[in-house]
Amino acid sequence: MLMQGIAASPGIAIGRALLLPREERQLVRTPITKAAAPGEEERFETAIQQAKSQLKELMNRLEAEGSQQEAGIVEGQWFLLDDPQLKMDVQNKINDELVDAVWAVHEVFGDYAKALEAIEDEYIKERLADLRDAENRLLNVLTGVRNIDLSQLAEPVIILAHDLTPSMTAQMNRSMVLGFATEVGSRTSHTAIMARTFGIPAVVGVEELLAGHKAGSQLVLDGDRGIVLSQPDERQLQEYEQKRKEHAALAEQLNALREVRAVTIDGKRVELYGNIGKPEEAHFVLEQGGEGIGLFRTEFLFMDRSEMPSEEEQYEAYRQAVLSAKGKPVIIRTLDIGGDKEIPYLPLEKEFNPFLGWRAIRYCLADPALFKIQLRALLRAAVDGDLRIMFPMISGVREIEQAKELLAEAEQELEAQGRAYKRGVPVGIMIEIPAAALISDKLAPLVDFFSIGTNDLIQYTVAADRMNEKVSYLYDAEHLAVLRLIDMVCRNAKAHGKLVGMCGEMAGDPNMAKLLIGLGIDEWSMSASQIPYVKQEILKLSEAECRDFVKQLLS
Ligand code: PEP
Ligand code: MG
Repeated sequence: MLMQGIAASPGIAIGRALLLPREERQLVRTPITKAAAPGEEERFETAIQQAKSQLKELMNRLEAEGSQQEAGIVEGQWFLLDDPQLKMDVQNKINDELVDAVWAVHEVFGDYAKALEAIEDEYIKERLADLRDAENRLLNVLTGVRNIDLSQLAEPVIILAHDLTPSMTAQMNRSMVLGFATEVGSRTSHTAIMARTFGIPAVVGVEELLAGHKAGSQLVLDGDRGIVLSQPDERQLQEYEQKRKEHAALAEQLNALREVRAVTIDGKRVELYGNIGKPEEAHFVLEQGGEGIGLFRTEFLFMDRSEMPSEEEQYEAYRQAVLSAKGKPVIIRTLDIGGDKEIPYLPLEKEFNPFLGWRAIRYCLADPALFKIQLRALLRAAVDGDLRIMFPMISGVREIEQAKELLAEAEQELEAQGRAYKRGVPVGIMIEIPAAALISDKLAPLVDFFSIGTNDLIQYTVAADRMNEKVSYLYDAEHLAVLRLIDMVCRNAKAHGKLVGMCGEMAGDPNMAKLLIGLGIDEWSMSASQIPYVKQEILKLSEAECRDFVKQLLS
């Protein structure tokens, strides 16, 4: 029997199934007397401490193994449980509604989840998994249920689960877990990201996965095509065994490319960078052979919390990214919020056309005080390495001038405070609005570099919402209009001696490498795991042929 899901992490696994059935926790609203409330508060407090120490232990273990990114995810859950707001909300629930700690925790987490679910953003939605994971751990402690420990497996297995929490994934004994499949999840969930980090083949989003399999049955899991095959016959087994071997050979080959530079056969050198959302991810970019950070989406520092991160907090985060990059360039993009990315503590209203609305640089220029906190933090962190500042959603000259004026003010403020900061930090802009591409000859003299954000540039060029499935057939990176715009941006950048990068998803697609070489993109920034795949493609190409190819396409 063959089941189809979403390919979440490449590779082939062949082995026996271990089923982790869906936990059906029977939670009931348990009323208590007023006199019992302090006892319930104490019970909650003890459980929080215990859950936090479990997370700390897991974090230490991951750090000791060098899995910084995973440790960071676990740390995020630790911070969630450490939040004074959570404590207050649960205490209020116990006292105001006179319910026990278990019900209060369940309700409070339920409220948080609802608030997150209302936000139309894929990344935020995925953070729900962390929230549920933390809730689950807390409820397990409160109700005395042991957490499933995947570090103690005695034999190699393929795990089939309704859902795997990020902390369960982080715990996996990687020599015993051959692969895993889940009924829920998407490619951008932390669980899927971790599987790719660990190199564990994974398939997510397989409907009826648990109902369709027996514990201990023979399985093939194809993480390339998103397939789970049970009871394979002899021929299928042989075929997959062959594929598994090829995969292992390819992984070794890609591994060997880590230190190799991305150069075409006729000597054209390009730089491959990684995109990150949190400072701790910088380490993974370097591990994959990344030569810098081409996009740090700072808005993620502002999410999952109840108040603005302070200048000090931001400074620490940017500094950590710069230090992790070990002297390599780190392009930090200023806040790109608004529209689809809501932040509860900022005054952003629902809009009819959020992608055409009050977002990114537009919002920041309207709130100079907020913007300058970020700019000061960036200028200070720049002291420790090669930090570069990038403004998102630029549509014209005036926005660059205004942003640079505020940057100059931020410098003066630091000067007045006698704080250490770096002078002459390079400043670039994202080219993601067709208007900016069309006047890139006027914008180039004002900045040090361009980075093309194809995710937005494509949606604005063909007028097809990047989140809307129904118009996704129009969302085409190879549309002649998109290619002409990119070509124009590259030419204008070169004419002014400026570097041009690309940090949209197009840069991480190995099938686009030929186009990007032909168009003349100098710096390509992508998800860390894509770096070796893209590099492998570049090594096979000839710049001269790519240029001819693009010339033909453009005509
Ligand atoms: C882009 O638009 O291509 C981009 C990289 O920015 P984001 O995906 O964060 O909008
Ligand atoms: Mg964008």
